Amino acid sequence: MYNELIIDYSRLKKYKGKIDGAISQEGKNISCGDEITLYIKVENEKVVDAKFEGVGCAISQASANLMIENIIGKSLDEIKEIIENVNLMVKGNEFNREKLGPISELSEIKNYPMRIKCFLLSWKTLNLIIKKIS
Ligand code: ZN
Repeated sequence: MYNELIIDYSRLKKYKGKIDGAISQEGKNISCGDEITLYIKVENEKVVDAKFEGVGCAISQASANLMIENIIGKSLDEIKEIIENVNLMVKGNEFNREKLGPISELSEIKNYPMRIKCFLLSWKTLNLIIKKIS
């Protein structure tokens, strides 16, 4: 599961930090010790910026970076569709690869039940924010 994509994205610094005035949400995966605080800035129903703070394993960090990279510039409706497809992917169901882009390269996560929670932490946290504002 520790492929190049995960290693590269787990080291990314670009999306680390806090955004003043953004909507924030904390998330925890107690089975691994992953913690995240996600900051999402929304303007006109669109995510214009996003960052995160937190600690955790390579998969949780890589997943957060990959998620943020793929939601900046997207509308809330587009993001809801992405979340739906991520949930289908981890369950091993058919999903729309086009909608997920590079995230679909992590579809093998479905074969690692212990790691799914690490992968999903940032997505669950994002989903809470989306529910709060829509
Ligand atoms: Zn983890």
